Amino acid sequence: MKWRILAALLLIAGSGGIWAFSSASLPENPQFDLPIEALRAGASDSGYADSVTVHIVAKAELAHFINTAWNGFDPEQRFYSAFEVRTGGETILIDVPHPERLHALVPGARDYYTDRYPALQQAVKRSDRMVISHVHGDHVAGIPYGDDPEAAATKTYLNEAQFAAFEEMGVPTEPNIREMGFPAALLAKTKRLDNAPWQFIAPGVAVIKAPGHTPGHQIIYIATREHEMLLLGDEVWTMENIRLERSRPRIISKYIVEEDTEAVVDILAAIIKTKKSNPGLILLPSHDEAAIVAAAKSGALTLLNAPAN
Ligand SMILES: [Zn+2]
Repeated sequence: MKWRILAALLLIAGSGGIWAFSSASLPENPQFDLPIEALRAGASDSGYADSVTVHIVAKAELAHFINTAWNGFDPEQRFYSAFEVRTGGETILIDVPHPERLHALVPGARDYYTDRYPALQQAVKRSDRMVISHVHGDHVAGIPYGDDPEAAATKTYLNEAQFAAFEEMGVPTEPNIREMGFPAALLAKTKRLDNAPWQFIAPGVAVIKAPGHTPGHQIIYIATREHEMLLLGDEVWTMENIRLERSRPRIISKYIVEEDTEAVVDILAAIIKTKKSNPGLILLPSHDEAAIVAAAKSGALTLLNAPAN
């Protein structure tokens, strides 16, 4: 009798482990609405962006399975990027990664390209407006902890959920990648985006609410005359999630990142579905340098710095 109980317990523990290390399954009919036709029509009405330039300032390395369930232990490189869009006579900066002094807070942190950071802060300085994909430090800390936080905050446009998240976070005594903090006095200087599921903020540039990885997460659509792309932020960490149609393991998603796991896989399924019916659409997860390099090769954008290796 005892061995049966033991076998049952092992089975439960084993299946629990399999559950924890698997991705939540992708729905066949995702609820998330990625309104690609409306975005395309909107770009045709609003006009197109002139150019997209990408800054990559740092690198980290984590095992593949952390990003994509059951994808092995080989190291996967991750890059920290900002997208500078020129459109309608102005410059919009999307995401501003952390400065070098905060890089140690990034899991698996490797090189920081110290020489590239001044160029990123120059982009902050010359930008007319800034938006962020989400509130994690590797996408935003270059604003409150950059060269001129006050000037930068004044031209930062947050959605309501991002603002609320920063308000709640305050300035943590022990900052981490998810909470590097945004001091209240600076937060008060930021501006608000209109409260809409999606909206054009400039010719050819739209922000789409995609709450999942964080409550205020946004995907950004950019259309130039010849190319159309989606900046996926961190809903997808690398193109492996798209290729394998699999998200992060539940244990990472639910307990480490503490994201809305079901929402993330729903959005991932919607992205995959959209890509299948729009093969020319360029998908850019913010941490995937290979995808950024490929987009640069196709002429869709300019990579400010050549790949480091
Ligand atoms: Zn990130």
